[in-house]
Amino acid sequence: MAVLAGKTALITGGTRGIGRAIAERFAKEGAAVALCGRDAETAQRVAAEIGPNAHGFACDVSDPASVDGLLAAVTEQLGGVYALVNNAGITKDGLMMRMKDGDWDAVLQTNLTGAFYVCRAASRAMLKAREGRVINLTSIVGVHGQGGQTNYSAAKAGIIGFTKAYAQEVASRGITVNAIAPGLIDTDMTAVLTDDQRGAVLERIPLKRTGTVEDVAGAALFLASPDAAYVTGQVLCVDGGLGM
Ligand code: NDP
Repeated sequence: MAVLAGKTALITGGTRGIGRAIAERFAKEGAAVALCGRDAETAQRVAAEIGPNAHGFACDVSDPASVDGLLAAVTEQLGGVYALVNNAGITKDGLMMRMKDGDWDAVLQTNLTGAFYVCRAASRAMLKAREGRVINLTSIVGVHGQGGQTNYSAAKAGIIGFTKAYAQEVASRGITVNAIAPGLIDTDMTAVLTDDQRGAVLERIPLKRTGTVEDVAGAALFLASPDAAYVTGQVLCVDGGLGM
């Protein structure tokens, strides 16, 4: 039987990259998948491409009113969310001493505060159901830091603390909260790297390749599946060994 049959999954930032791969994998495993992006038409087109199990919604996770609207719409159309994947994320890189307030704020607001807004909005139905899986996308740079990405590293480190604290709050209600820390995955986000930057990271990856979006989707499916029922508050690195 499909692993997520009868379950509703919400994936933020599901219009491309890692989020889209997770949406595809979860839909294949029988979940009713809600995916969101900032543009309604794009989200609906991607959902239609994935198939009848997928549904597209517009939401800007950095805006609490937009997030509350998303949860209301998803709950009405698909029922309470069982698996929540906080995947939406952006980068605005630069050296710390020259970083603009706006670039700091935008990255923290989307990558960290956005995950808080979505968890809070989804929590009531999850607590009532006494079951649920929350999967937050952090990054290997949230564990080790990355020069040129102080804003992004801070947001992703924040996600790890948030994950562990929230896991403690809801464990007694049958809800698990875990994080996935990808290494270098080929998506639009990393397409901006120069060949030299990519080569330098590749040299440090023991498995000698960059990751695919499917590598991350497989880890997300594990954390959403019954096999991970006894796993909570953890950070699963999907990085080819980069962080060892
Ligand atoms: P992409 O840039 O390819 O995709 C980002 C997704 O986030 C898009 O679907 C975009 O949708 C959505 N998004 C961005 N801002 C918002 C917002 N304010 N509200 C709603 N949706 C938003 O990124 P990746 O797939 O590479 O990354 C996915 C996650 O994985 C991110 O959290 C990232 O930090 C993390 N990660 C990625 C790594 C990598 O190597 N690629 C490594 C480690 C972590 P739209 O534009 O349609 O709004």
